[in-house]
Amino acid sequence: MTKLLPTATAGSLPKPSWLAQPEKLWSPWKLEGEELLEGKRDALRVTLADQQQAGIDIVSDGEQTRQHFVTTFIEHLDGVDFEKRETVRIRDRYDASVPTVVGAVSRQKPVFVEDAKFLRQQTTQPIKWALPGPMTMIDTLYDAHYKSREKLAWEFAKILNEEALELEAAGVDIIQFDEPAFNVFFDEVNDWGIATLERAIRGLNCETAVHICYGYGIKANTDWKKTLGNEWRQYERTFPNLQKSNIDLISLECQNSHVPMDLIELIRGKKVMVGAIDVASNTVETPEQVADTLRKALKFVDADKLYPCTNCGMAPLSRAVATGKLNALSAGAEIVRKELSA
Ligand SMILES: [Zn+2]
Repeated sequence: MTKLLPTATAGSLPKPSWLAQPEKLWSPWKLEGEELLEGKRDALRVTLADQQQAGIDIVSDGEQTRQHFVTTFIEHLDGVDFEKRETVRIRDRYDASVPTVVGAVSRQKPVFVEDAKFLRQQTTQPIKWALPGPMTMIDTLYDAHYKSREKLAWEFAKILNEEALELEAAGVDIIQFDEPAFNVFFDEVNDWGIATLERAIRGLNCETAVHICYGYGIKANTDWKKTLGNEWRQYERTFPNLQKSNIDLISLECQNSHVPMDLIELIRGKKVMVGAIDVASNTVETPEQVADTLRKALKFVDADKLYPCTNCGMAPLSRAVATGKLNALSAGAEIVRKELSA
């Protein structure tokens, strides 16, 4: 990007109410068959227009074609039985009934490549595409086959790499892997989590990103955040190795969080997507609040490497709130851009 402080979102955006029930995770589709396919594409066009109107520089599909950022990808793979469910603890935080890995996992056909081609046709702006990361994928499954978190992560990394190479060929500029699990399983992240991520980006020439957050604004996450104390130092455990990794961009949660900004110093040299929009609150930030967060981050990241962004996805928010937050992000970035060029 030649533009200073290019804005982007972490990933998901609200779906139109004719496609799925708003303000809900895992919201079931309201359409089926051909109508659903068409509806998803129309929603993708709407979410793109919303981002463009707000002045977002790096646009995305807003995850309009998926029900959930992890499960939709896994649904397209062989080796996972969605009927056979077991209760596991997700990210050491809450119990959920999850599908079972019953055999070797594989990808028989592309998952999001047609959607990415469709988005590419609609705009000449840079586009970013989000995929789940290997560690977050294994954390959402019961594994009755490999019986090893690490082995399953390596298998998923290979599958993600196949998908990522095809997304790149479809014209995606930045491929992002969502790894909220990186904020929980520090030893595993350092032992093999970052290594599996690097396997997932092997051979890519486009830019790559990892998104590490404290989750959507759902109750299980906000309850967990209350246990983390006044200073959230989770990033400190993984940043030194991420700094040495081949990942180009790191997407972080900064707005209204208790993450000490100086931790960003640990990834000096990387491009940093600074979360300047709180997705766990319906209060729309003022442009000045966004600018303030960006100014604080600028002490630890060079201006040409700062990408103003949201803390996480905005799927569970109302469209009005999400649009307000996109506008605030753009306006806040513009304030700081002017200051930098003055
Ligand atoms: Zn997130």
